[in-house]
Amino acid sequence: MGKCKNITRLLSDALDRSLTAGEWFAIRLHLPTCSGCRNYRKQIRLLRAAAHTASGIATPDAAANGDD
Ligand SMILES: [Zn+2]
Repeated sequence: MGKCKNITRLLSDALDRSLTAGEWFAIRLHLPTCSGCRNYRKQIRLLRAAAHTASGIATPDAAANGDD
């Protein structure tokens, strides 16, 4: 075992860097068999979407105040 630790780490890494073909293969092989890792992937996707949305609604005023 210990595979889930690997897979969740790769899923997280995928947000920051390009995974190799072998890494994607390991993920695709594992996800259909593991609801835990599927949920993890769903969660980090939501988190990233939320972060993207938050940066999208930041106002120029807020940015200017940050420089003050
Ligand atoms: Zn798993």
